[in-house]
This record gives sequence, structure tokens and C-alpha cells, in this order.
Amino acid sequence: MVSLDKILKKALYEEPLFRDEVLHLLRVEGEGDQARLFEAARTLRDRHFGNKIYLYGFIYFSTWCRNNCSFCYYRTSNTLCDRYRKTDAQIIEAAARLAESDIHLLDLTMGEDPFYFDQRNGFEPLLRLVREIKTRTNLPLMISWGVVPDEVVKSLPEAGADWLACYQETHNRALFRRLRLHQNYEDRLEVKEKAKLAGLLIEEGILSGSGETLEDVADSIEMMKQMKAHQARVMNFVPQKGTPLGALPPPPPTRENIVLSVLRLVLPHRLIPASLDIYGIEGLREKLQAGANVVTSLIPPSSALRGVAQSFLGIDEGHRTSQAVIPILEELGLRKGTHEEYTAWVKKEKKNLPTKTLRNDEPRRMKVAAG
Ligand code: SF4
Repeated sequence: MVSLDKILKKALYEEPLFRDEVLHLLRVEGEGDQARLFEAARTLRDRHFGNKIYLYGFIYFSTWCRNNCSFCYYRTSNTLCDRYRKTDAQIIEAAARLAESDIHLLDLTMGEDPFYFDQRNGFEPLLRLVREIKTRTNLPLMISWGVVPDEVVKSLPEAGADWLACYQETHNRALFRRLRLHQNYEDRLEVKEKAKLAGLLIEEGILSGSGETLEDVADSIEMMKQMKAHQARVMNFVPQKGTPLGALPPPPPTRENIVLSVLRLVLPHRLIPASLDIYGIEGLREKLQAGANVVTSLIPPSSALRGVAQSFLGIDEGHRTSQAVIPILEELGLRKGTHEEYTAWVKKEKKNLPTKTLRNDEPRRMKVAAG
């Protein structure tokens, strides 16, 4: 019989946890035991990162997408959502505003916008935009554009990108087929491997409460460890109007915090974000108390930009800004890390990336999925 105390002790010694131990942690119930789990997660975060928290600005610059994920408000067949594709000038303006607000990284996100995935247009305009934003802000940049072609992955570091995010959402292939309809599981995994070979750090993510079992979550956490994801995120599922999963009840907020804590226990030295996209500023304290060390999804007010899962939550009220986040950090004895501390971490991790380089004659295995 495994006991919570023994598992937490083992985690605090940073010994690898067995699958049944991870499962035991994921099943933790009751406020007392959950508080012990969160406390252990904070101890490990503080050991590896001190009291430093990093802030990521989020620019969702195109909500057009050729894909039809069953959980997503912006799936191609949803006629209920307002879509936009921001101009370069609008994106640059949002980037400048976020940079002024002193964030550590800019996350440039879009759906798999058919405009750019159409070879007649291509990604060159976006790569030019990345170069421009890098020159103007000199901030680390994260790219989240879906399964982009190999040549784009290879061009991203030169353009100034530092990260590639591409979320599997689940590592149960049957569930993946139900969530990411008509998409290829391997292609999505491979783009992250190719990104590492090209010199980019990677973020992997899972969706909690969209039909997975706790065994699936344990498997996902193991996959994130094996793929050496530099940043590992969990976000609770939010039912969206006009989607096949729109009637699925949402999971309790605690579920996201428990998974976040277990991620910290298994991956103590990795970045683990608290997203403002699901529960807004109200949910931030709990996520920081559960072991997060990054706050993501900061969006400038009045920018007419949207979140991914909660399109409007707290944006125009200014609740998704560094000014709103910093007092909460201070209240919890945390502080915003410096830019030097963040870039030093990124630099150190880049040095540990695999050294094999992608050759131009390597087979192009990227498949252009139908939307
Ligand atoms: S989750 Fe991403 S890939 Fe899927 S439909 Fe939404 S925007 Fe497109």
C-alpha cells in the first residue's frame, strides 16, 4: 500500500516516481492531503527557481483555423464565433504594449490559419513579422502556429524565435482522435522533436477534463518527461458554444491545480505555467500555491485580442496584465524574475538541446491536415 507521505518524501528527494505513485498523487482527495501535495510542489519549485515567477504576454493574432478540434471554440466549422486575422501593424502594436508592461516572453499564437498554410501565401510574411518583433522588443518569443512545415521550423530560430509550443492535449491516441479530429498524432509529436533539433525549446500541454482517465494523465506526464519538454502545461477543459463537447460538464478547478502540482513533482526543474485563460486572475493564487512558476496569457486591455478558452475573461478589465499579477505575487512572497534571470534559464536549456541538425534532404513527413 503506497502512502502519500512516502511518495511526497520520495518526490522531495527527487527520486523518479513510479506510475502507481503518480496515480496516487492524481487521486489525492480532501483539503488536508491536497494542501500537503501543493506544499511539496512549492518546495520543489522554490528549490529550483527560488521565488522568481516569469510573465508571458499572449497575442492570439489569428482565430482562423483549418482544423476542427471537438473542444475548440475556433474550430473551422463553428459558425458562432467572431473571427479575426490581425494586421502586422496591430500585432506589432500589441507586442510593443506587452513589452512596455515588462513581460518576459511574447507568445505569438494562431490557429492553423488556412491563409498561411496555403502555399500560395506561405509563412514568409509571418517569419518577417517575427524578425520585426524580435528587433523591436528583444524579448524571447514563443511560436504556437500548429503543425508547421519543416522548413518553417528550421527558419524560426534565425527569425528570432526561442520556443515552439504545440499541444498534444492527450497522449491517449483514441482520445486524441476524438479531440483533434482528422489530425495526425505523430505529426504533432514530431514537430516538437524537430523544433528541438532546430534549436528551439518546446512546450507540451494537456487538457484536463475532456474525457481522459487519471491513467491517461499519468501517461501524459510520463510522455512530457520523456520528450524533455521545457515547459509543461495543464489547462482545464471549458465547454464552448457550437462545439461537439459543448454539453460536457467542466471539471472542478481543483483538478487543474492537482495535475499542475503533480507535474511539478515529476518535472521539478521545468517551467510550469499558471494560465489566466481558464479562471482569470481569481484562480491565480491557487495555481501559484500549487507550484506554478510562470503566469501566461497576459493580454493588453482594449486590444481586441482574445484568449483561447475564455475569449474575453478579464481582458478589458485589465485583469490580464502584469500590473494585476504582481501584487498577487508579492502577497505570496514571490517576485517577478528579472529579464536576465529568464534569458539565462533559456540560454542554459538551449545549450542542452540535442546537437544533431536537421538536414535539408531529410524526408518531409509533415502532413497538411485537412481542416
Ligand atoms: S485547438 Fe487549435 S488546431 Fe484545434 S481547432 Fe482550435 S485553434 Fe485549431
